[in-house]
Amino acid sequence: MQTLRQLSWFFKAHWKRYLIGIAFLFLIDVLMLWPPRLIGDTVDAIRNRTLTTADLTMTALTLLILGVLLYVMRFMWRYLLNGGALILERTLRERLFSHLTRMTPSFYHRKRSGDLMAVATNDIPAIEQTASTGVLTLVDSLFMTLLTLSVMLTAIDWKLTLAALIPMPFLAWSTAYYGRLLHERFYLAQEAFGEMNDHVQQSVSGVRVLRAFVQERADVEAYRRVSEKTLERNVSVSRIDALFEPTIAIIIGFSFLIGLGYGTYLVFTSAISLGDLVAFNLYLGLLIWPMFAFGWLVNVLQRGGASHKRLSELFVEEPDVQEQEHPVTAVASNTVEARQFTFAYPGTEKPALEQITFSLDEGETLGIVGRTGSGKSTLCRSLLHQYRMNEHSLFVGGVPIESLSLTALREKIGYVPQEHLLFSRSIAANVAFGNPDASEKEVLHALELAEMGSDLLQFREGVQTMVGEKGVTLSGGQKQRISIARALLMDADILILDDSLSAVDARTEESILRHLRQERTGKTTIITAHRLSAVQHAHLILVLDEGQIVERGTHEELMQQNGWYAEQFRRQQMEQDVAG
Ligand code: ATP
Ligand code: MG
Repeated sequence: MQTLRQLSWFFKAHWKRYLIGIAFLFLIDVLMLWPPRLIGDTVDAIRNRTLTTADLTMTALTLLILGVLLYVMRFMWRYLLNGGALILERTLRERLFSHLTRMTPSFYHRKRSGDLMAVATNDIPAIEQTASTGVLTLVDSLFMTLLTLSVMLTAIDWKLTLAALIPMPFLAWSTAYYGRLLHERFYLAQEAFGEMNDHVQQSVSGVRVLRAFVQERADVEAYRRVSEKTLERNVSVSRIDALFEPTIAIIIGFSFLIGLGYGTYLVFTSAISLGDLVAFNLYLGLLIWPMFAFGWLVNVLQRGGASHKRLSELFVEEPDVQEQEHPVTAVASNTVEARQFTFAYPGTEKPALEQITFSLDEGETLGIVGRTGSGKSTLCRSLLHQYRMNEHSLFVGGVPIESLSLTALREKIGYVPQEHLLFSRSIAANVAFGNPDASEKEVLHALELAEMGSDLLQFREGVQTMVGEKGVTLSGGQKQRISIARALLMDADILILDDSLSAVDARTEESILRHLRQERTGKTTIITAHRLSAVQHAHLILVLDEGQIVERGTHEELMQQNGWYAEQFRRQQMEQDVAG
């Protein structure tokens, strides 16, 4: 019930649809009361031998017309109410999706994507059910019960009515009871099914590792266990399912038994006519559905309530990073600056970055190096304002990034993340992702700058080749270069390459870097790398260790300092000489 109230914003917005739909429901319920009476009267006329052909034809015609009317009206309410619920489903789904796109990384860190998927695929339909079946059963069963009961009580015989109704509450109760059991067991069965799916998916995609470590037999055994569990849980669903109908049949049977038995007695004592008894039984039949519906209603509302709660919990989540009320929407210059920037990930004590200070002028390149886990990626992500941070320590174009609108900031910065991601689309669509209006020529140019040009010749369809599951499998280096091309096409004022050259050979790296220098005059570039040759030409190189800057300077200066950088550089030179 509460769920329906919580959805009232939707009912209000679509009140016409709901009003007309409910009006049709009401009309149908009124019309439904007519045929039993007609039939009862006809029976009485037969018995009293007063039935004329004209009467019978009239009755048959009326029934026919009623049938057609009911047909049309039933179509109408189904169309209006179920259609309304579908609109609700779409509205919620779109809201959820756009909400999810606003969320920051820490949100996705906390939530499992499987659970988010479940909200979209299970919970939203459950709410849709509440709005369609829920509204229908609530309104219809109320109308139907009240109308039918009042006719039975007043027009036929109240004692007979009450007697025949004794088993009915059991009907509602057992529907609710079995429904709940069914739901609980179904949930468990679904869970087992999900687990089984997971297993298959992991085994199929990890089949190489499975074979390499000779784990096939163990995996088959593990699979047998989950599939056994799925079987057991599904059987337990069937057990309840199988009990359901016979129970209902018994209860309804009792109701009719009383109705017929006691009714016949009343006919014999002439308290009611035979036609009344016939009509009574037909009315009794009409009551079965609302009783069922009451039972279902309890379940549908419960389920919808739980789902609505889960969905609302997602909606109250606010993105960590909020824009200011009047954010700066454009910055002219391309400088980047950090003033004693310190940052800890949400939920962690130890800062991932401490006292980072540097300043980059327009057109300069910053190199960030350091051991794995030293904070290079964290610094890159901080510049994109992905996390909430202490204010006024990072500046882009002289403006603190908290004061910049997120769109402006992210349009200003082209970013190639360390975990590059390609979508299952064509290479061209992947490159043009941030710039969908780009011409094919521009796309090709970007790919050439990223040294992907010659690789394209291998693919029969060139830039239109599909990548991912439905297309070609790309090497790590190819994926990296497509990601670089994507960022280059954006032609952003500030470009961040987070370890983006790790999977290409030294010569390719060199020519990509040369292209960058040629193309990006006046623009700012930030490069993180493990191979120091990638930052050799940078105007400033920072060496990070445990989140702190331990060395800084140009390549020459750092070589003179003879610290971690110099040692690392010499070792890498030597390795390359050996390899070359
Ligand atoms: P690599 O060279 O391996 O890419 P990195 O220098 O880029 O390493 P970061 O990814 O910035 O290192 O990680 C710095 C530290 O921050 C690590 O100790 C890591 O465990 C921690 N860290 C990274 N991401 C998160 C996160 N989302 N939440 C909490 N801690 C994180
Ligand atoms: Mg990193």
